[in-house]
Amino acid sequence: MDSRRRVPRTDLVLADPRLVATAGRLGRAIVKDAVAQAQRRARQGEIGPEEVADAAVAALPPYATSMRPVINMTGVLLHTNLGRAPLSSAAIASAAAAAGSADVEFDLATGARARRGRGALEALARAVPAAEDVHLVNNNAAALVLVATVFAAGREIVISRGELVEIGDGFRIPDLLISTGARLREVGTTNRTSYADYAAAVGPETGLVLKVHPSNFRVEGFTGSVEVAALAGLGVPIVVDIGSGLLAREPLLPEEPDAAGVLKAGADLVTASGDKLLGGPQAGLLLGRRDLVERCRRHPLARALRVDKLTLAALEATLRGPATPLHEALRADPAALGERAGMLADKLAGAGIDARAVSSEATVGGGGAPGVTLPSAAVSLPERFTVPLRTGAIPVVGRVEGGRLLLDLRTLPVDRDDDVMRAVLEADG
Ligand SMILES: *Cc1c(COP(=O)(O)O)cnc(C)c1O
Repeated sequence: MDSRRRVPRTDLVLADPRLVATAGRLGRAIVKDAVAQAQRRARQGEIGPEEVADAAVAALPPYATSMRPVINMTGVLLHTNLGRAPLSSAAIASAAAAAGSADVEFDLATGARARRGRGALEALARAVPAAEDVHLVNNNAAALVLVATVFAAGREIVISRGELVEIGDGFRIPDLLISTGARLREVGTTNRTSYADYAAAVGPETGLVLKVHPSNFRVEGFTGSVEVAALAGLGVPIVVDIGSGLLAREPLLPEEPDAAGVLKAGADLVTASGDKLLGGPQAGLLLGRRDLVERCRRHPLARALRVDKLTLAALEATLRGPATPLHEALRADPAALGERAGMLADKLAGAGIDARAVSSEATVGGGGAPGVTLPSAAVSLPERFTVPLRTGAIPVVGRVEGGRLLLDLRTLPVDRDDDVMRAVLEADG
């Protein structure tokens, strides 16, 4: 008989108790998709008709989102394609707590409306006492749009030619600024800009002077730029985009500017990302002079750029909570990483896999700390493991180097070694 005729009907397959249970948890549409896929395989003769229900169960996704959690072993701490900073468990729990109805704009004591996200704002203000006031938006790009709109729409932004930066994926800060209706008044040259260049350009048309941290490249040789402190007397708002979101100096990354240091040096406003070196959720931070922050907050555009309750909860927990996974990764002791790599490699070799521990170099990534390498350790596997590991039940993403797949331990939380071990054994099957 034609096997296509014998492919069980959708309603019969859907009655399988395992699929009924999953439909309750993930929704019927996802289960139906899995069933349809299994029926297709049966029609093509890949599986027998009696295997359709089992195949559908095996194909069920773990979540109602198609986005999958991934184990980042690329050695890139802030991997843009893998969602930048991984949240701390405190931040994850806080976001989950805020996910239902929550008092995001409500005072439980009085029953009256309250300031949206006040806990996150207070935590940020407390973390940077040098800031008179703080505001939060969707990301750093949004912070720049808001600042450019409020202070320079129809006017000029004075900016060094050495700081006209492309952040990545075609995102160019000058294009973003111009989109607000501001005009760029470029000063200096690619490699050198002096105080006199800024002073000559500042005038009645100036809305603000913007300094952008060249986060993802370095200029070497005959170079010169102007410190924030030197610009502070120009009589117009000095805005500094520090990019990374470091709030205070990080000794491991001496070249990275921090919000407190830049404000103390005389910046009027600082903008930064929440999901780079701050180690939190995607967000844009605005810190600085009270009157300027207030003008940003009151602008109609602020509403379009506001952050949601999940972000507010996760950011507050990042600021107040325990060390973030990013900071753990940044500070990890190379010797300890080597030991973990050695133990993993030994166990895998014991299972007959060509695994060995090698030294490695990790990077910060996320368009930050260019040229900085962090000594690390990796498990080196045959390259053929790359695809099975990436597409396994728990996807593990490493990096291919010299014909080997390297799984870098620096980006792996200490409690995940066993998960990686299992994933590699499965990928070997
Ligand atoms: C990353 C970065 C941005 C963009 O920040 P998002 O939070 O991704 O919008 C802007 N400026 C600098 C200097 C950056 O490094």
